[in-house]
Amino acid sequence: MDAELSQSKHKKAIFLDRDGVINRKLPENRYVANQKEFELIPGVRAALKILSKLGYLLIVVTNQRGIARGLMDETQLNEVHRHMKTKLEERDILLDGIYFCPHDRDEGCNCRKPRPGMILEATTQFNIDLDQSFMVGDSDSDVAAAVSAGVRAIRISSEIDPQAYLTFPTLVDFAQYLDRLKDQPVETTCGDNNDQRTDQR
Ligand SMILES: [Mg+2]
Ligand SMILES: [Zn+2]
Repeated sequence: MDAELSQSKHKKAIFLDRDGVINRKLPENRYVANQKEFELIPGVRAALKILSKLGYLLIVVTNQRGIARGLMDETQLNEVHRHMKTKLEERDILLDGIYFCPHDRDEGCNCRKPRPGMILEATTQFNIDLDQSFMVGDSDSDVAAAVSAGVRAIRISSEIDPQAYLTFPTLVDFAQYLDRLKDQPVETTCGDNNDQRTDQR
């Protein structure tokens, strides 16, 4: 490995689940297999813009077992991701990485969430400081993958998830929360951490 690269300053990142966080989730057992089925959730581009301006890398980590099930192939998935990037680039938002797991539940891979493989691979590749980073997802498996990787889990849900570090109704609520924090004096080590369980208003 490149010695200079590995010694460079660690970066902070937002790991993002895709379906249900960036784009609308399809009904159970259906997979986004083409552009028409890919619908951005309102406010997501504003949210990603805020997170990017705050200096976070934006890294998508998504389970896509529709591939293992033969309901779509990798070419279709890549096409969907190209479309996603185009929709984001319209607002000058660049994703730093997209990681996907094409495997089925019983294949025993290390990448399928709740396993931490995708997060850990990106962490190595981008030299990410997990202590400064977050994993955002709308499923139990996202939170479990985050916990397993050792990064704070942000749950997107209308109900508080006690397993998560914080819960927000949408990605934009989380982005605005981080944006507000940057203006506050840093006193994270000695304050009590129990006053920020959720930010649902
Ligand atoms: Mg999801
Ligand atoms: Zn996998």
